[in-house]
Amino acid sequence: MSDGNGSAAGNLTQPGLPETGALPKRRHIVLTSHSNRSGLKGNPVQWGHGDPLQRGAIVATVTDPNHRNAIGTHSGSYAVYRALAVASGVLDPDHRPDFTNTSPAIPIGPHPSWADPEKIVSLDPFGALVGDVYRDKIAEGLDIRPTIAVTRAHIQMPELLEAVRQGRIKEDGEIVKPGGDLVVTKAAVEPVWYLPGVAQRLGVSEDELRYALFEQTGGMFPELVTRFDVKVFLPPIGGITVYIVGDPDAITDPARPLAVRVHDECNGSDVFGSDICTCRPYLVHGLEECIATAQQGGAGLIIYFRKEGRALGEVTKFLVYNARKRQEGGDRADAYFARTECVAGVQDVRFQELMPDVLHWLGVTRIDRFVSMSDMKYNALVRSGIEIVERVPIPDDLVPPDARVEIEAKKAAGYYTDKVAPTEEDLAQVKGRGLE
Ligand SMILES: [Zn+2]
Repeated sequence: MSDGNGSAAGNLTQPGLPETGALPKRRHIVLTSHSNRSGLKGNPVQWGHGDPLQRGAIVATVTDPNHRNAIGTHSGSYAVYRALAVASGVLDPDHRPDFTNTSPAIPIGPHPSWADPEKIVSLDPFGALVGDVYRDKIAEGLDIRPTIAVTRAHIQMPELLEAVRQGRIKEDGEIVKPGGDLVVTKAAVEPVWYLPGVAQRLGVSEDELRYALFEQTGGMFPELVTRFDVKVFLPPIGGITVYIVGDPDAITDPARPLAVRVHDECNGSDVFGSDICTCRPYLVHGLEECIATAQQGGAGLIIYFRKEGRALGEVTKFLVYNARKRQEGGDRADAYFARTECVAGVQDVRFQELMPDVLHWLGVTRIDRFVSMSDMKYNALVRSGIEIVERVPIPDDLVPPDARVEIEAKKAAGYYTDKVAPTEEDLAQVKGRGLE
């Protein structure tokens, strides 16, 4: 191979790999792992300070390492696609966004929880307001980016249109338009973790958390274990979408009711209507509850987390489906959790301990109708100081026959039910379809 650098680049060619040709001329790489050299030199963040200027802007962009004061970068897992765009030459790595007309469609906050370093540890409460509160700093050249965006939308879902047709949902002209469009406000929220706070929620030391994050990502972020002075981390994971139904002011008004569904992503059911679980039916039921509560003068919230397959991912999920359906005796409710644990080593890694943060960002202190049967979600919310008045299980007639295995296993494991929880013997009788 040709070697324009005159070095031992030829040694890089490994057996079985194509020759790489001449090494490209590289830009100077700035290692970010040493505080006394370069990178991550920005002002430290005073997490939980109620004044955003005192708290300090979170600077996680890579355009100027000298101003960075956080580990990781924006856009969660999509940061990797941005890297591909830079690598392939279609994106200028120094591009600065033009934020004209991008400000939130409605104001949210500030709420007292924003000034409490323990109430919110996994998102930046000022994330939607950076263009406003840090206007001067951005004008001075600091590359500060929003981690939350708030917009408006109309939703058309077949089940909701059918509910309008059947008269269960009324067209009021404002929340539900003539023809069945549901009007919502929606917010996209990127994760921003305050590492000491996240460690505290999980009941581990900050050191243990940092080493596990570093090692289990294949050493992706060296600053986790070299820059203990930098406390904020933007992890490369999916975020949250909030759907607000009705008047947003009702969310924090104690005189008005609030319905909430906290929903963890299940692409197979949510989008494609797969019948092995209750995810989409329960999501739609949650929306119906939100509409009913909003039409009574309150508001409804769907909080949608990108935590596919109990945050174990879809590959693990599909492996578990096969293991469930091929096991001796077929897919059975009494072996539901055991099959997940066989494949993944654990039943669930959603860590609901971090989930309440988004509700505290919205200023929620009481939920009148909580549309979820999960004891983990319920306990996390109550422990975080949110009152839950009533829990709303999924109506029986919305459970697809093949999803009985899941819902009965969950009820036996402690999920909320307004009936008697099934026994081990009951569970052994609940069977699902084979792999046909
Ligand atoms: Zn599902």
